[in-house]
Amino acid sequence: MKYFCLYSNCIIVIGESGSVLCDLQNECYYSVPNNLADLLSFNRGTPINLNKSSQLGKIANEYFEMLVKNNLGFYTKKPHSYPSLSLDWKNPYGLDYFIYELNPLTIVSFSKIIKEINSIGCSTIEIRISEDLQLIAVEDLLKSFKQSRVRSIYLIIENGQGASIQQIQALLKGNSRVIKIFVFQCNTDLVENDSYQQIKDILLLSKEKITEFETKRMNQNSFVHNMAAFCEAQEYNIGLNRKLTVDGFGNFKNHPKHKLILGSMFEHSLNDIIRNEDLTLLWKVNNNRIEYCRNCQFRFFCFSEVELIKTEDGKIYKSHYPCGVSK
Ligand code: SF4
Repeated sequence: MKYFCLYSNCIIVIGESGSVLCDLQNECYYSVPNNLADLLSFNRGTPINLNKSSQLGKIANEYFEMLVKNNLGFYTKKPHSYPSLSLDWKNPYGLDYFIYELNPLTIVSFSKIIKEINSIGCSTIEIRISEDLQLIAVEDLLKSFKQSRVRSIYLIIENGQGASIQQIQALLKGNSRVIKIFVFQCNTDLVENDSYQQIKDILLLSKEKITEFETKRMNQNSFVHNMAAFCEAQEYNIGLNRKLTVDGFGNFKNHPKHKLILGSMFEHSLNDIIRNEDLTLLWKVNNNRIEYCRNCQFRFFCFSEVELIKTEDGKIYKSHYPCGVSK
């Protein structure tokens, strides 16, 4: 008998109102109607014995042809020779994403925290620079990363009304880890500066406030369809896992918008906080455990950072629903 198999990097995720075929190698996805998704999700290949004169048989056969043409699947007589992909996930870092809200209060402990970050290991840092801080003060702080294990730094200038291209260039000088600078509430004349062209790939300019930008960000474009995220999402909440924030008051939180405070950087070490059960339990609540999200076809590549709420009967919800994604 002949079978149709999807390539092992192409995985079906079935949702309530629709399904998706995730192509993890090419980092994209295709929408699939649920009845076909049911057929395609046979672990070891779909037997090609559908009645071609039936409506479903006709559609399924056309679909298989289209999937073969697009390099998403193939026909075989030996489906057992093609094992499924392992979705195990491991990360050598203690933290994956660390957000620091930098202002005159929190700047005093910046170097201490970065030292701790270096010993724990963290791949990406986001520094949010408040409007009360001079950019020149940040130039010096960035030198702390010279010997660090941090791979990427995002700089967010919350109020860029007074910022100049020269000041922004100074932040980049000698700091190859800075891969993006976002300037909010900015003066759009910046793009008319001759030097703008040299750094325009790194710079994102917006007239909006950061809060407006974050509210609009949650849509299909914010999904990440790569192998690492998909594997991590099988067990963890990819929007919250290994994320930590120091907010503008020096409080440790999972994300700046969350209400739950885990401790204060003036009283607790980073090492203690990353072992705090309130935090590590949140990291492990993947979308399969969250009401509404568990039936969503995007649950393995949705990076929603919305705070979670547990009800008395043990159910877990996102604090903000609907999420803004149309299905
Ligand atoms: S937040 Fe929305 S898009 Fe993301 S998994 Fe939940 S329901 Fe789906």
